[in-house]
Amino acid sequence: MKNKPVNSARMPIYRDSGFELYDAETIAEAYRGESDPERIPDHYLYSRYRNPTVEAAELEVQKLEGTKWTILVESGMAAIDLAVSLFQDAGDKRPWLFFSEIYGGTISFADEILEKRRGIDIREFNPVNGKYNLDEFESVVRNVRPKLVYVEIISNPLLLVPDAIGIFSIAKKYGVKIIVDNTFATPYLFKPADHGADIVIHSATKYFSGHGNLTAGAVCGNDEALMKSAIKYRRYTGHMLSADDAYRLSTQILTFSLRFKQQCLNAEAIAALLQGSEVISRVWYPGLKDHPAHNEAKILFGNKGFGGMVTFDFAGKSPAEKRRRRNEFIETVSEKIKVIPTLGDPRSIIMPVESVWGEKYPEPGMLRMSLGFEETEEITGIITDALKKIK
Ligand SMILES: *Cc1c(COP(=O)(O)O)cnc(C)c1O
Repeated sequence: MKNKPVNSARMPIYRDSGFELYDAETIAEAYRGESDPERIPDHYLYSRYRNPTVEAAELEVQKLEGTKWTILVESGMAAIDLAVSLFQDAGDKRPWLFFSEIYGGTISFADEILEKRRGIDIREFNPVNGKYNLDEFESVVRNVRPKLVYVEIISNPLLLVPDAIGIFSIAKKYGVKIIVDNTFATPYLFKPADHGADIVIHSATKYFSGHGNLTAGAVCGNDEALMKSAIKYRRYTGHMLSADDAYRLSTQILTFSLRFKQQCLNAEAIAALLQGSEVISRVWYPGLKDHPAHNEAKILFGNKGFGGMVTFDFAGKSPAEKRRRRNEFIETVSEKIKVIPTLGDPRSIIMPVESVWGEKYPEPGMLRMSLGFEETEEITGIITDALKKIK
């Protein structure tokens, strides 16, 4: 039986592990097509290699990030593994330079897998008082001669923003490859590949999905050889996204800009509100003038917004008082704002920084908030009421 296409307006979920190949001629053609970079082959082979539902979702991510190529994998961490592995060559001893303010999972991966198990020489580049200094970056690159640099556009939890354009231009000058995790900034605010980044990755689990109901990662780039090598890596290591998750991603991502725009507006409103409260000692939001990276953020993002995350610290005479206020706040809002360890969800959610980062950010009063896309009055109302109750 040959399957007839129906007039569905969107790509359906193809759950086949292997596709029907009919005869020897079709098999030969399918294998030729499989190694062909052209999309939409006439015949698919095996879903770990390529899958039509996954490809439909890839095209949607590609439209947003604006790169020539995008491949989807089963998580943000898989995207990171794939991205860095593209540059790992046997015998190449050059160090890799990681910015220090990056996702905790990436730091653990770099320490425990890349360094300890794969023998990569990992170096760290640190900000000073919340700012990455360009001259210092150039001097480190000149001395260390790294093979690649790994950076995030908005960091976690302090929402630091490097002068990405300056960083990229120094990296290019010294022939250093650039990998960017653009999960927090998203292409709505900044498209790293337009400014020379070699590979851009995303945890599509977060803003692209936007509904907290799937795990996925994206790897985007403009270099055909590099991206072909990414497709091979995904195939050989089995990092492929499932058709079910790809289907949900391909529909949910259609509202990405609307959602993210509202999340940025909500974050801006909440940052301003928190800044005016007596029980809050400090608010970290790149849209605020006193944030160390306010100027960098303005240059990179123009007037589009400053992201959907806000981090703030409760005031107190002692660590115990700060912690008590933080806990009271969590308790007070608990019906409406849940403690959930992710971000980019439809509703606003929070995480205590101390519990996640431990020694790196031990501030007992600190909370990280991921704004949802609720109406602004709804979320400002909840926070205003809660702040009034904190003694
Ligand atoms: C969540 C996250 C990741 C990891 O993504 P998963 O989809 O959870 O594997 C990587 N980078 C950043 C910035 C993240 O927020």
